[in-house]
Amino acid sequence: MAKKKTTRKTGTSKASKTTPKVALKKTATKVAKKTVKKAPGGAKRKTAQVTARAHAGGTRKDGASKKRAAKKVARRAGARAGAKKTRAKRIDPKKMVYFFGASKTEADASMKALVGGKGANLAEMTRIGLPVPAGFTVTTDTCARYYAEGERLPKGLIDEVHKHMSALEKESSKAFGDSGNPLLVSVRSGAAVSMPGMMDTILNLGLNDKSVNGLATLTGNMRFAYDAYRRLINMFGDVVMGVDHHHFEAAFDVIKQRHRVREDTDVPAEGLVELCGAYKEIYAKHVGEAFPQDPFGQLELAIEAVFKSWHAPRAQSYRRLSGIAGLHGTGVNVQTMVFGNMGEDSGTGVAFTRNPSTGENVFYGEFLVNAQGEDVVAGIRTPRFIDQMPKWNKRVHGQLLQIKGKLEKHARDMQDIEFTIERGVLYMLQTRTGKRTGAAAVKMACDMVKEKLIDEKEALLRIPAGDLTQLLLPSFSETQKKIAKVLTRGLPASPGAAVGRPAFTAEEAVERAHAGESVILVRSETSPEDVDGMHSAAGILTSTGGMTSHAAVVARGWGKCCVAGAGQIHISAEDGTLEINGEVYGRGDTISIDGSTGEVMAGAIATLEPQLFGDFANLMSWADKYLRLCVRTNADTPEDAERARGFGAEGIGLCRTEHMFFEGERITAMREMILAEDKEHRERALAKLLPFQRSDFVGLFRAMKGCPVTIRLLDPPLHEFLPSGDGAIVEVANALDISREKVRNRLAELHEANPMMGHRGCRLAISHPEILDMQVRAITEAAIECAREKVKVIPEIMIPLVGTWHELMILREQAEATVASVKREHGWTKKLEIRIGTMIEIPRAAVMAREIGAYADFFSFGTNDLTQLTYGFSRDDANSFLPDYLRRGVLGHDPFQSIDQHGVGELVRMGIERGRAANPQIKLGICGEHGGDPKSVHFCHAIGLDYVSCSPFRVPIARLAAAQAALREG
Ligand code: PEP
Ligand code: MG
Repeated sequence: MAKKKTTRKTGTSKASKTTPKVALKKTATKVAKKTVKKAPGGAKRKTAQVTARAHAGGTRKDGASKKRAAKKVARRAGARAGAKKTRAKRIDPKKMVYFFGASKTEADASMKALVGGKGANLAEMTRIGLPVPAGFTVTTDTCARYYAEGERLPKGLIDEVHKHMSALEKESSKAFGDSGNPLLVSVRSGAAVSMPGMMDTILNLGLNDKSVNGLATLTGNMRFAYDAYRRLINMFGDVVMGVDHHHFEAAFDVIKQRHRVREDTDVPAEGLVELCGAYKEIYAKHVGEAFPQDPFGQLELAIEAVFKSWHAPRAQSYRRLSGIAGLHGTGVNVQTMVFGNMGEDSGTGVAFTRNPSTGENVFYGEFLVNAQGEDVVAGIRTPRFIDQMPKWNKRVHGQLLQIKGKLEKHARDMQDIEFTIERGVLYMLQTRTGKRTGAAAVKMACDMVKEKLIDEKEALLRIPAGDLTQLLLPSFSETQKKIAKVLTRGLPASPGAAVGRPAFTAEEAVERAHAGESVILVRSETSPEDVDGMHSAAGILTSTGGMTSHAAVVARGWGKCCVAGAGQIHISAEDGTLEINGEVYGRGDTISIDGSTGEVMAGAIATLEPQLFGDFANLMSWADKYLRLCVRTNADTPEDAERARGFGAEGIGLCRTEHMFFEGERITAMREMILAEDKEHRERALAKLLPFQRSDFVGLFRAMKGCPVTIRLLDPPLHEFLPSGDGAIVEVANALDISREKVRNRLAELHEANPMMGHRGCRLAISHPEILDMQVRAITEAAIECAREKVKVIPEIMIPLVGTWHELMILREQAEATVASVKREHGWTKKLEIRIGTMIEIPRAAVMAREIGAYADFFSFGTNDLTQLTYGFSRDDANSFLPDYLRRGVLGHDPFQSIDQHGVGELVRMGIERGRAANPQIKLGICGEHGGDPKSVHFCHAIGLDYVSCSPFRVPIARLAAAQAALREG
């Protein structure tokens, strides 16, 4: 229960205690994220995929499959038309209000677009016989008409509302505004997609100076009645009339002082009577007229206020930021109020039908006796666990358990419910699909397959692929995180959780880690010199650098937690301090970083170890039944390769050979090679690198056990490999036996203004063919060695950063000649196929893919560089302005994280089409960071790639996403 409790408590402040709505909104915003992420984007994505498939189909589907695809489209269109027909029959376009109650229920779960999510679920619960306070929903179309008609309530609406209010009065045997037995209602927004807290809610409508006394007499509880009245005046004043909330709060403080109490709940009845008087004065002063005593007047204004809140700035930005498009308004739910604060036989609570943290099939919730819903969420009082409920009310607990079963059977998914008990009678106020952790999602889906609630396809489709991350890496305990102090946020560069004390240089990190300390390597940015430190550290934190900076890429490859580009951090390595928003942290201070969210927190947050339990393996085997895309991995070491195999990788899609030279004597030899002034010196350095390369490749081939291994020839952006600090310069000078001055001079000669666009990739091999020779020799020799050991090998040589067919033609010829000569040297006459292909990572290469394709056995789209060069955004520095682009809606998402389908994606499509035209056998994949992003994987499936390649820890995510893409295609 802890999770739910703290979730709801978060954001509780003095202000939120006095105005529970504030706390509700804060919490609700968090809860909203997941729901919103799923819904509208899904529809959009689907359209994009259908278009994309059509496109891909044009290039590769044969006649029969084209026909099959056409039939599928026709079937889908038919189904849509059918669905429309059914709706058209049932939905009267003139009808603006839908009732739910014992006498009739007009909407159902399929009508979310028309009556909003909340309205549809309330109607559905009523339909299946659950105790829901009766009410009605004004449709989202009516809201749209309100705007279309110049912000005027559509004609006839108020008449319909009156009619439905009469029905409500009849059902409740109460009368709206009555001084004897008053009916009170809540008015809540509810769009088709949940936008919690973004729009308005008004409770206790129908109270006035007369009915408040009626309520007091009826309940025998004057405090309760005036508490409800003061909440109404406050909410109505604030939400409907725009009176600033702090005026009400100030008046409440005066009353509390007068009665010498600190908490709202301690103010006696007479204090609340005084407070209502004070609130009415505030209302009259700021609105210019008295608080409305006519309940229907209140209702009309409240409905209009909810309509207006659809276009409130916060709702608009929320929709923009969450990618919610295509909705035209909110529904308005008017529902009979029920009260959990009517005494010791009343109460309120929230619950999940299964444990949302672990997925265990146990009822999981909490409740408060004699309290209102806001009291639970605002954390004013500590709720009790639901399993303690039988001691308080066994019957209600039993009833709730029955409802849990019924709701789950009906929704076929875990539900998040809210309920109230008014004088011993249970009422359901809300149900929706519950938010859950990745681990819980997997367990629930597998359990529900066993329980025959869903089939395995649905189980696969239900789990957000990205959520699997939590199963693969250590993560922070959610409960602990809720109470953590978040210092700042950077980019979630490599998922995981790390706790440690800051170390400011790589050497320091190595030393302290060696001595048994857990350290976080804190650098403005990392370079290969830092690699030992990165490896030794529990996590990496940088103040600059983007998602695809090499620091992030390396960290992800290792599954090492990394938060990059946390711009608010000021690091002084000299002083051994980092300063965040005025607070200074030193070597002795523990911090925690969350690589899945980018949060940097003070202190040590407890972590949970990853668990690859049986359900997870099961799920992956189901995924493999349906996926069409092959999933490979980006791995540079045998350990990474083994790990990725364990996660189900079917080959290596990218081995970045320059990453093999990060450590120890290798980097010295690598620098020696880069700094060499002539061929002779270069060859000397290359000779030192050859044995390392060969044995690394042998290790990779063995680990991959006959799966393809794509080895990319050197692609070192020079700035990442050249020595920068004095220490490194001395080291290189000593190794080369030359003066430091000479090293410095050579560094000045090699300096590049745009190293990402500099002397890297295939350009190096064009300038210095001996580099390619060494690498191809190492690959061929390693392959021969493995073949002799009867280890099956499928090496693939990948030439990076090609922009012209000429580059590829020359380098392919050279590589083939080297392979042939090494075979001869080693007396190898048996078959040894080594494929040669290229990366498509320069826009020109995509455009010229037909010409380039003539020389390639495969293309691997390097979407990191392709994104960088297509947008003209430096992948290392874009974080200085990307947050502004995202905030201002210039970009909907970071294109380095999820592929830009329309721009970069169009180039990939072009590359596929033209490459296949030149070479119908060509294998096509992607190895940029996008290969592990579920949305991008869907895109890769839709445009007809053969494989995606991603870091080892993202392999299961890509497998699940690939299966989902295939299943969604139908
Ligand atoms: C790419 O550019 O997408 C790629 C995989 O290469 P790198 O990230 O090593 O530049
Ligand atoms: Mg690249």
